[in-house]
Amino acid sequence: MITLVPIGKVKDTVLKSLAPPLAEILRQETEVAGPLLLPDDGWSRSRRQYLASALLALVPVPARGDRALGIAGADLYAPGLNFVFGIADTEGRRALISLARLRPEFYGSPPDDALFRQRAVKEAVHELGHTYGLGHCRNPRCIMFFSNTLHDTDVKGPGFCAGCRVKVDRGMRG
Ligand SMILES: [Zn+2]
Ligand SMILES: [Zn+2]
Repeated sequence: MITLVPIGKVKDTVLKSLAPPLAEILRQETEVAGPLLLPDDGWSRSRRQYLASALLALVPVPARGDRALGIAGADLYAPGLNFVFGIADTEGRRALISLARLRPEFYGSPPDDALFRQRAVKEAVHELGHTYGLGHCRNPRCIMFFSNTLHDTDVKGPGFCAGCRVKVDRGMRG
């Protein structure tokens, strides 16, 4: 089971569109949990962003074999980084993604809902991949390729390369 946990305001339609592709690619059932409130103590007033680890800490640790994915509409940062698309807590079997920088509007481009949803699926699969024990992959088409930019994200597919597929299946059994 993969539990999607919205944090703050996240549209229902976005959550509903994320669940089926995640279920298909990760071969797990998905469910959507009730929303959590954004934490006051994670907000940086000077950066106008939330500390990613503060939000991830709110996501309940799932049972062994299960995974939880926090989904925030807010923009996130981590120490030493201007922003992060997502982070993972492998030990805790949970991950977190931010939707803020996945919309073309963020960069002054016209809205493109299909592209936005594709990006959200990719970020989600990537971070959940880390929770199954996967590191980054050198194949630029593989979902576990490290995205330095959204261009990298747009180039790669939503699925695992053959090598990473073997590893993720092994991670699901372990
Ligand atoms: Zn990564
Ligand atoms: Zn790979």
